[in-house]
Amino acid sequence: MNSRRPEEPGGFKGFEGFETRAIHAGQEPERSTGAVVPAVSLATTFAQDAVGVHRGFEYSRSGNPTRSALEACLASLEGAARGLAFASGLAAEDAVLHLMRPGDHLVIPTDAYGGTFRLVDRVWGPLGVSHTAADLTGGDPAGALASAWTPSTRMVWVETPSNPLLSIVDIAAVSEAAHERGALVVVDNTFATPYLQQPLSLGADMVVHSTTKYLGGHSDVVGGFVAVGDESLADRVAFYQNAAGAVPGPLDCYLVLRGIKTLAVRMDRHCANAAAVAAMLSRHPAVRRVFYPGLESHPGHATAARQMRGFGGMVSFVLAGGEGAALKVAGGTSLFTLAESLGAVESLIEHPHRMTHASAAGSPLEVDPGLVRLSVGLESAGDLLTDLRTALDRLG
Ligand SMILES: *Cc1c(COP(=O)(O)O)cnc(C)c1O
Repeated sequence: MNSRRPEEPGGFKGFEGFETRAIHAGQEPERSTGAVVPAVSLATTFAQDAVGVHRGFEYSRSGNPTRSALEACLASLEGAARGLAFASGLAAEDAVLHLMRPGDHLVIPTDAYGGTFRLVDRVWGPLGVSHTAADLTGGDPAGALASAWTPSTRMVWVETPSNPLLSIVDIAAVSEAAHERGALVVVDNTFATPYLQQPLSLGADMVVHSTTKYLGGHSDVVGGFVAVGDESLADRVAFYQNAAGAVPGPLDCYLVLRGIKTLAVRMDRHCANAAAVAAMLSRHPAVRRVFYPGLESHPGHATAARQMRGFGGMVSFVLAGGEGAALKVAGGTSLFTLAESLGAVESLIEHPHRMTHASAAGSPLEVDPGLVRLSVGLESAGDLLTDLRTALDRLG
C-alpha cells in the first residue's frame, strides 16, 4: 500500500475560500529557499535516513513531492478525503474500474465521453465486466436506474454535463438511488470542474477528471485524477495507482497545479462567453437545436441551476442542414480551431460523429452526424460571435 498521505494544506490557516485553496492548498513556500511554487521534483528515488526510514518519499511511482502537492490541492477543491493523480483521464477511469471484478456489472450513461465507452465496452467487457447504457437525465432517475439494474450491478457511472450533449444528471438523486441498492457512484466532473460542481458533496463516492481539460486549462498537459470521499475506498484506488503505475510525471503535475491557480477566473469567463455563444446560436436560422444547460429551454436547466455554480464553457448544436452543414461549419471558422479536446484558453470546434465520438459508432452512444461541439475559450466574446456567425451565414 502507498503509505504516504498528502500533506495537510497549510499556510492559509483559517482561509477556506475556493480560490484561496486553489492557489495555496498543498503548496507551502519551500522551507529551505522560500520558493513560492512547488519544485518540479525530478528525482526518481529519495535518500533514506536508515533502512526503511524515509522522509515521506521513497520512489517516485509510489509518491513524488510535486504529485503530492497536486493531489492535496485538487482533493481539497473536490472536498475529498484523498486525491490520486494519473497519467491521463482514461488511466484515472481505468483505476476506478479496477474496483470491479469479473461478473460485476455497471450502469453507464447513454451520453458520455467516447473513450469512456470504449474502455468499458472493449477493455472491461472482454474481462467479464458487463454494462448497460441508461439515460439517467430524466425526471425519474431512480426508475431509470431500476430498469438497468441487475443483481451484479456494483457501480453507476455519471457524466454531467455530458459529452457531447451537455445533458444533466441529478447527482444527489442518482446517488441516493444507487446507494439504496448498494452500488458506488462515480462522477466524471471534467466538464464542470470542482469550481462549478462538487459531486462528493452531493453524495457521489468518487470523482474522475481529465485534468487535460479545464484544470490544466492551456492545452499543454495530459493528465487524470480520482478524488475519493472515503479513506478506505481511497486506499483501494491508491493501491492500484502504485501497483499498476499509470502516474503522471512531475512536470505534468506542475502544469496542472499551475492551471488550477486560475481555474476560478477562467471558469467565470468560459461560462460568460459560452452563454453569449449559446444565445446567438439559438437565434440563428441555420441552427436547429442548441445544447447548453444555461438555456432555459434545456431539459436539465433546473437541475443544473441547483447543483452547479455556473453552466460551463461547452456548447453543442445541431445544424438544420444535417451532416453536410455541420462539416462546413466545423471546417469554416477561423478563430475556433478545428481540433479535438476542450477546456483550454483557446476556442475549439469539432464534429463529434467523425472525431471525438467516432469510437461510439453503432453503439447506444452514437451521436447525431449533424452535431457540432464547441469549447468556448477566453478570447473576446465579440470576436467569437463574429467568427461563428460568419461560418453559419455562409451556409446560406
Ligand atoms: C477527455 C475526457 C476524458 C479522457 O481524458 P484523457 O485525459 O484524454 O485521457 C474523460 N472524460 C471526459 C468528459 C473527457 O472530456
